[in-house]
Amino acid sequence: MRILIVEDEIKIASFLHRGLNESGYVVDLAHNGEDGLHLAVNVDYDLIILDVMLPRRSGWSIISEIRRMNRETPTLFLTAKDAVEDRVKGLELGADDYLVKPFAFTELLARIKTILRRGPVRQPDLIEIADLLIDLPRHKASRCGAHLNLTPKEFSLLSLLARHQGDVLSRSIIADQVWDMNFDSDTNVVDVAVRRLRAKVDDPYPQKLIHTLRGAGYVLEER
Ligand code: CA
Repeated sequence: MRILIVEDEIKIASFLHRGLNESGYVVDLAHNGEDGLHLAVNVDYDLIILDVMLPRRSGWSIISEIRRMNRETPTLFLTAKDAVEDRVKGLELGADDYLVKPFAFTELLARIKTILRRGPVRQPDLIEIADLLIDLPRHKASRCGAHLNLTPKEFSLLSLLARHQGDVLSRSIIADQVWDMNFDSDTNVVDVAVRRLRAKVDDPYPQKLIHTLRGAGYVLEER
């Protein structure tokens, strides 16, 4: 298994390099975005781990570029603690997972194993569920061809549910991925947001797509 690490912080990069080597992976290292992209498109990797903030070319542009070239190498990106928008953006661009810095090496290893077991899964640009159409790169959604006027948060919530269609997402997962909040049982921010989203996405249409599982969370699916 060959892994590419694109990380400009030398300490983190060499720590990852050494740890992954010791865990039996072949590791290549790039310290800036240009070198990272060059390696990513010229060498066959089983996984790419990349930092978002990189000199010369951002982690985002590397993910976009390799997906644009239809390369499906799994990617995991490393992001700062308070950058929730980053997580949603990274996943929308086609990353497979992310880790928030600082992270434990054992956590990274666990994520890597999960990703490698799953194999390359390309996030599609368009998600179609019944008459709902979501255009991820353009941040647009429609039902029956009619544009849905969503706020950026509503779009993030809808695309999160749609990317995991058929899976029940708990309020805490939704709160973490869309708002970077630790779920607190006193807050009903997720329920309020889902209600607003439903008012636009489901209420005007006979077929409901967003379903509540009492005590468990929400699921988006065609029933
Ligand atoms: Ca960096």
